[in-house]
Amino acid sequence: MKKAIFFDIDKTLTTTISGEALKKDENDIKLIEGVEEGTEYFKLKGYKLFGVSNQGGCSAVNKATGLPFKSISRAIKEMQNTHILLPQLELIAFCPDFEGNIIYEVQQGEYRHFYRNELLHPNSSSANTLLFPSFRKPSPGMINKIIWDWNLHDADEIWMIGDRKEDEEVAEAANIKFMWAEKFHKRFRSGLQEIGEITSEQLQLLENLRL
Ligand SMILES: [Mg+2]
Repeated sequence: MKKAIFFDIDKTLTTTISGEALKKDENDIKLIEGVEEGTEYFKLKGYKLFGVSNQGGCSAVNKATGLPFKSISRAIKEMQNTHILLPQLELIAFCPDFEGNIIYEVQQGEYRHFYRNELLHPNSSSANTLLFPSFRKPSPGMINKIIWDWNLHDADEIWMIGDRKEDEEVAEAANIKFMWAEKFHKRFRSGLQEIGEITSEQLQLLENLRL
């Protein structure tokens, strides 16, 4: 049984230690309550886990300085530190540009990057823009690339879990199932939680119950 889950990063897996909306530095990262337990549970159930994040701050220019709000090297460091907190993930991919032409794939202590127009379809000599549309969510390029690289196109079950509209939209664009991060947090947070309305597929994912 091949199964995978894509997680958004900010406010889905991690939040700031400082309490600020944006990370103050590359160490201002902590796991949201329930995330460690939840990702361990899914890993144990045989899901491959991946992070997918838009890092538009690497392209948005701060008028005060004339420079992007976040350097690429800072974004890499943030994702590496996130991977140190969550080694259950296979890798974390992020897209730093608004056009969605570049993807970075980060693991603890290493990273690589690719340009969309240089990725070749395995069965063709030309770049396949259908397989790799923009990497920026809500376009499905980041998810498609990982599905391709990890041989998941015939997977039995693939989910996206996120906290924003673009996460819900990318799941639809990539033709995978979606669940809001809040339900994931509440399921694995300690104490009794009111999860609210839930589909039978979500119940199966969270409780391993087949209705
Ligand atoms: Mg988010």
